[in-house]
Amino acid sequence: MLKTHGEINQEQGLYQLSEFAGKGLVLFHHYGSVMRGVIRRYLETSVTQRGYRLVTLPHLMKDQLWVTSGHRTFFTDNMFFASAGEESETGLVVKPMNCPGHILVFKEEAKRSPSLPKRYFGFATVYRHEKIQNTHGLMRLRGFTQDDGHIFCTMEQLQQEVTEIVDTFLETLGRFGFQKDEDFRIKLATRPAKSLGDDDAWSEALTALRTVLEAKKLRYDVEEGAGAFYGPKIDFEIRDAKERWWQCSTVQVDFFLPRRFELADGIVMVHRAVLGSFERFLALYIEKVQGFYPLWLSPIQVLIIPVRPEHVPATQRLFNELQSQGIRAEIDARKKSLAKRIKDAESQPAYFIAVVGDQEMGPGTLTIHRRGHDAKETMSLEELVRRIGEESRGQFPLPALQAPSGSQRP
Ligand SMILES: [Zn+2]
Repeated sequence: MLKTHGEINQEQGLYQLSEFAGKGLVLFHHYGSVMRGVIRRYLETSVTQRGYRLVTLPHLMKDQLWVTSGHRTFFTDNMFFASAGEESETGLVVKPMNCPGHILVFKEEAKRSPSLPKRYFGFATVYRHEKIQNTHGLMRLRGFTQDDGHIFCTMEQLQQEVTEIVDTFLETLGRFGFQKDEDFRIKLATRPAKSLGDDDAWSEALTALRTVLEAKKLRYDVEEGAGAFYGPKIDFEIRDAKERWWQCSTVQVDFFLPRRFELADGIVMVHRAVLGSFERFLALYIEKVQGFYPLWLSPIQVLIIPVRPEHVPATQRLFNELQSQGIRAEIDARKKSLAKRIKDAESQPAYFIAVVGDQEMGPGTLTIHRRGHDAKETMSLEELVRRIGEESRGQFPLPALQAPSGSQRP
């Protein structure tokens, strides 16, 4: 029986959902924050290698911006509005999406350099007024962080852009061990009855999306009429521990926002997220690996356990050495039996567990084992540091450098 992310979190203390702080809002503790930081660095490196430019947005933006974007018409029920002081009107909205912000960045940069495509990326938190009964663990929250990207290109460039986006989906999901057709499935959503944009644009964009999936020989389902009102899309859904499917990666063509923001004629906008929401992706990943993370992602790369109090100084020296090498280490010197501390370590988000006793203080060797594995190994500190460096580089290679099209500086 597979555990849910909530059950694993009970053991590991990655985050909390506090009713005191507000339902549907997550507070990441240290371990969850470390994982978030590692994943964010991975994504930022990966997308900058693919020619994206990093963007950071404010959490509040003016109401008028959301009138222009159409969100005040189509999304108002899902928006939070900011007040100040004695509930006075501020005219500010808590950002439910990043798209309008990325458009403003694009418009300004396009003045200096009109070349296309332009790709923008930000790891950005948004807030949406979900009904409380619809919130669900980390899967559906009122505040969540998107690995959000937008591309501005011509219709002729669309297919190449979508190809690179789908490549990023496959590469990233693969990096986290999600298997195609087993852990994730693909959906192509076509034009709904109520939609905007002309017929030719819709059919050209749909053809581009379909061609990308066909060329890669990916199995997909067509969801007739399930596209957004503003354009067709491809969604990747990941399965959780209870066999439910959740939308994660998405690429959506948009004919609507470019017009609302009066972008130059012929510019197509593409919304894309690889993880979708960081929180949902993390939940699915925790369930996929059942709380056993690879070395590169483990919040504790080495958990050090001194056998007895007299071993604490040696433990501290080991900790200092590992930390100075950039390795995430922790010490468990609680006044609990060795057996109890080793047992507890097995449910912690640790990778290696190192026990330091008399033997280890002597000839400079350590007894270590991987969490979840019985086999113990004896090695020197230098050997451990070398192995961690090699193993985590092996597990966490950045995407192969390829020259992305149109990645010149604007
Ligand atoms: Zn967007």
